Amino acid sequence: MMRNLRLCFGPLQIKLILIERTNSVGLELSLFIGAFGLIIGSFLNVVIYRMPRGESVAYPGSHCPTCGHMLRAWELIPVLSYLILGGRCAKCREKISIRYPLFELTNGLLYFFAARQDTSGSFLQLGANLVFLSVLLVLAGIDWDTYRLPDIFTLPLLGIGLVAGFLLPGDPSGWVSLGSALGVGGFFWLIALVYPKGMGLGDVKLIAALGAFLGFPKVLLALFIASLAGSIIGGSMLLLKQKGFREQIPFGPYLVLGAWIAFFWGDALVTYYLSTF
Ligand SMILES: [Zn+2]
Repeated sequence: MMRNLRLCFGPLQIKLILIERTNSVGLELSLFIGAFGLIIGSFLNVVIYRMPRGESVAYPGSHCPTCGHMLRAWELIPVLSYLILGGRCAKCREKISIRYPLFELTNGLLYFFAARQDTSGSFLQLGANLVFLSVLLVLAGIDWDTYRLPDIFTLPLLGIGLVAGFLLPGDPSGWVSLGSALGVGGFFWLIALVYPKGMGLGDVKLIAALGAFLGFPKVLLALFIASLAGSIIGGSMLLLKQKGFREQIPFGPYLVLGAWIAFFWGDALVTYYLSTF
């Protein structure tokens, strides 16, 4: 898939990294999948809000948490309805969190770019990737709200990663997937045993799932980005220590950010890194 190309002009040597791609999903279908991602994103908001409260994700229908106003069909249109309503409930005018349209948009963009960069030629692999990206969004939201990464999301994610590795054509292969999950999962499990305050078992299960899905070495890139983002953002929050900032910051959202970056740019970043030696 990847190829290094060296151009030599006398003493000057320029190294180009070419990523050969044969996109299996065209632009129009990718846009359609992206629009589908917006709608799924709207549902994920419901999951993030209701699951930790032990509420059904199906009943009752979407309503304003303040006044109970049942949302009409047009008020369910992702992103657009938020803009039309000016970010407020149509009935009681209570503010709607910016997180709702932001998560819808994020999920739409994730779907679009996942479709655009798909080279597996397998819709099952693409489907598994979309599930992976969306479950990560849900985990980031729930961890941010509750400091928990529920097993009901992390363990199936691990399972899908392993099954996709063994049965579907994309990277990583099954044994790499299993080895990476056991390797990084086992390593961080030991850390959690020795230093339980530093890392929860939810984080460990999520890291194992990232190992299964991303494989080695991309999972290391995800962990590196997560630690880097965690220390920069967490460190600056600590330094500023303004009122309203949270004392404890969950690690899950950083792991999700690292995983997304590794998923989309991991191949290019790893190749670039290796080419510098
Ligand atoms: Zn309302």
